[in-house]
Amino acid sequence: MSKNYRAELTGCFGCPIDENPTGVLMEAGYAAKNLNYRYLTIRLEDGQLETAMKAVRIFGMRGVNLTIPHKVKVLPYLDELSPAAEIIGAVNTVIVRDRKLIGENTDGKGFVRSLADSGISPAQKNVAILGAGGAARAIAVECALAGASEITIINRTPARGEELARLVGEKTAARARFLPWTDAMAIPENTDILVQATNIGLFPDASLPDINYDSIHPGMTATDVVFNPPMTGFLEKAAARGAGIITGLGMLVNQGALNFELWTGEKAPYEIMYEALKKEF
Ligand code: NDP
Repeated sequence: MSKNYRAELTGCFGCPIDENPTGVLMEAGYAAKNLNYRYLTIRLEDGQLETAMKAVRIFGMRGVNLTIPHKVKVLPYLDELSPAAEIIGAVNTVIVRDRKLIGENTDGKGFVRSLADSGISPAQKNVAILGAGGAARAIAVECALAGASEITIINRTPARGEELARLVGEKTAARARFLPWTDAMAIPENTDILVQATNIGLFPDASLPDINYDSIHPGMTATDVVFNPPMTGFLEKAAARGAGIITGLGMLVNQGALNFELWTGEKAPYEIMYEALKKEF
């Protein structure tokens, strides 16, 4: 009887990467589905991406994730982009299909799915986002594509925030505006979903976003992209004000589940992947 000892390869390129736990949830998913797939967490320094993307083709990999500093720099090495990745201008997932490298962005889709896990849809909602970096861009675009009424970008560096608000306003049907981040920033009264999409609170930093926490009210859902620690100081303060909260683990596991489906063509064993991830914290 002939056996196949060759594993299908997936993985992640980034630097720094050592503390990225995505491999744990992906490998748990592959094992649960009895798939001979591996997920390799690979430190890839700036400047090495062109060679690494050639290796993706040569090794016949199913796909890779990209993280800092490669999400934008990978664009020249891809054959196609998904519509959302094209608008966002960044790729966190590459799928190899018919020998073509296709760029997708599952960060924002994972975020929208994590809202759905709590029974929330961005449709007809006002979404306020702290930050205008890669995570904020993906979340703003996907919330707008999912039917949000208004996207408000609040960012420390005005040029970056203005650019994101302009992009959302031009490329989607949502209203979009930028507010400069002032001291003890008050969250707009009409906000339904508040997204903390900066690095603030990422381990070992235990600081808090400089907002007026009294402006958070029980009608809001507060979410954080930071997943280490899952319960950030920002979420603790928002919960104390009566807001619903969603941790960054939901976004992480949902984008992992989406990547799983894109690479294997099978439904992801979501609960098993989530349990494996939670054990890491
Ligand atoms: P970027 O470097 O692209 O953007 C960082 C953003 O945070 C910028 O808007 C920056 O503002 C803002 N910022 C940083 N420090 C401060 C500060 N002290 N005060 C005010 N604003 C600040 O990072 P990413 O968007 O790629 O990542 C952000 C976070 O999202 C990371 O912690 C990352 O781990 C997390 N993430 C989580 C995911 C998940 O699945 N849960 C997925 C992807 C990312 P400015 O423009 O002024 O510099």
